[in-house]
Amino acid sequence: MAGEPQTDCLFCKIVTGDIPATIVRESATTVAFRDINPQAPTHVLVIPKAHYPDAAALAAGDPQAAADVLREAGLVAADEKITETGYRIVLNTGAGAGQTVFHAHAHVLGGRGMQWPPG
Ligand code: C5P
Repeated sequence: MAGEPQTDCLFCKIVTGDIPATIVRESATTVAFRDINPQAPTHVLVIPKAHYPDAAALAAGDPQAAADVLREAGLVAADEKITETGYRIVLNTGAGAGQTVFHAHAHVLGGRGMQWPPG
């Protein structure tokens, strides 16, 4: 069923605490933790606690949780003091776009200059 935990999902296991992560924020519907392979001085992932394979599926299945992920991403940026210099919220969607974990997540990246277009 949509949103149900998946036994083989890495990020579902971070939500349950079965896999450790450096958690920086938590809400009723989301968890935010530091990426283990940071691509910028600030690199935090915000995930819904419920399992959806990508951001589009999350928005379709639970629009409130999708909004919560975006709100928490902004709060992470405030916590990390990167709002004034600017930051990027990235939603890789599909393997061809670089998605490697198929549990919806927003990357919050900041603390360095950013290029456009992204690679
Ligand atoms: O968008 P994409 O699916 O590629 O992002 C997955 C991210 O999850 C990667 O940046 C990877 O470093 C991160 N990750 C993590 N902790 C894990 C496994 C992956 O932070 N245990």
